[in-house]
Amino acid sequence: MSNVKSLNSPFLPGADPQSWLGVMGGGQLGRMFAQAAQSMGYQVAVLEPSDDCPAGQVAQRLVNAPYEDAAGLDALAAQCVAVTTEFENVPADSLSRLAQAVFVAPNAHGVSVAQDRVAEKAFFVACAPKSGVMPAPHKVIASFDDVDAIGDDLLPGILKTVRMGYDGKGQVRVKTREEVRVAFEGMGEVTCLLEKMLPLAYEVSVLTARGADGQSVVYPIAENVHRDGILFTTTVPGPNVSADSARKAQDAARAIVAELGYVGVLCIEFFVLTDGTLVVNEMAPRPHNSGHYTIDACVTSQFAQQVRAMAKLPLGDVRQHSPAVMLNILGDVWFDGESMSEPPWDRVVALPGACLHLYGKDDPRPGRKMGHVTFVAPTLAEAQQHLAAACAILGIAP
Ligand code: ATP
Ligand code: MG
Repeated sequence: MSNVKSLNSPFLPGADPQSWLGVMGGGQLGRMFAQAAQSMGYQVAVLEPSDDCPAGQVAQRLVNAPYEDAAGLDALAAQCVAVTTEFENVPADSLSRLAQAVFVAPNAHGVSVAQDRVAEKAFFVACAPKSGVMPAPHKVIASFDDVDAIGDDLLPGILKTVRMGYDGKGQVRVKTREEVRVAFEGMGEVTCLLEKMLPLAYEVSVLTARGADGQSVVYPIAENVHRDGILFTTTVPGPNVSADSARKAQDAARAIVAELGYVGVLCIEFFVLTDGTLVVNEMAPRPHNSGHYTIDACVTSQFAQQVRAMAKLPLGDVRQHSPAVMLNILGDVWFDGESMSEPPWDRVVALPGACLHLYGKDDPRPGRKMGHVTFVAPTLAEAQQHLAAACAILGIAP
């Protein structure tokens, strides 16, 4: 029997050294990935510049190095059979370097499209005949001449930096050309995208995964509420989501992940406008905050799915077995005015169907994602009722 493995042979857990998986980034998404991988029998190495990080606390190995450090990348590649990422701003060149030695999923191409709003919008436009959805009307703003050339149809709008935006950071709402000029200057004249402000009825996301064999799966559509630019709750099934929007968004997700030739977990955010139109907003080349509910409410969590995709295993069942509501826990809940104390988790977990996830961060700050709690229940109404009770306990306005 030949010992040369075919390109599509899976990396099975257990048989060291075949069983080490790597992840770029040490945040909470890397931590939950590591936990899922370990529960399936893999060992996990994390590459991350800071030495105390959520994923580093649970991984078997932490490679402490900057994301573009050649020696660090080579150490990760030498340890692992496959590498994935937990954040979209991982340098594409680093993924390309890793790919010379190990299987990398998602690959540099998929990540580079998702990390650049101009490339992402161009991809969505090109993909529209297949996906059936368009992004918001937009224009690249790279100079003051571009500001002068803005048509009235794009105002009022949102000026977004092309790279490195997250949780509403790197965005300014603008009503006039003059405001665009001021905002562009304020952003240090880095290349931006001006997007028309659309009348949103609600926001949804669709989590999808595609395997090395080209098969894909699509999770149930999730309805998301943001507060101060940060995800506040995810509800599945979404109370506002019509069967028609759900089908359109899921079909679009299938088309988008296939068109990208993507391997791994991809989350796509959509807007549903007041007239019912579905608009594609952006995508994340990794598990997503709005997919955390899958840990407790679906047969295969988004993190277990990430493991399966990168290990070239068959993808898992995406069936949701319980209605679910996820509440993000930000650092704000540690504070009452000036005084800081650990929130009463005992009272939160006493609520029916409460599944608490804390990320091991010892430095709560307002706006910082510290954990989440998902409520599962036989009916959505019960899950929502328990979430409201948790908000009351934690001092979060419902
Ligand atoms: P994140 O990474 O947290 O998802 P982000 O900072 O990358 O967010 P977006 O998702 O593009 O940025 O925008 C953040 C929020 O701003 C959206 O969830 C939506 O509520 C609002 N928003 C963004 N673009 C538009 C638009 N064109 N029209 C109306 N609202 C918008
Ligand atoms: Mg977003």
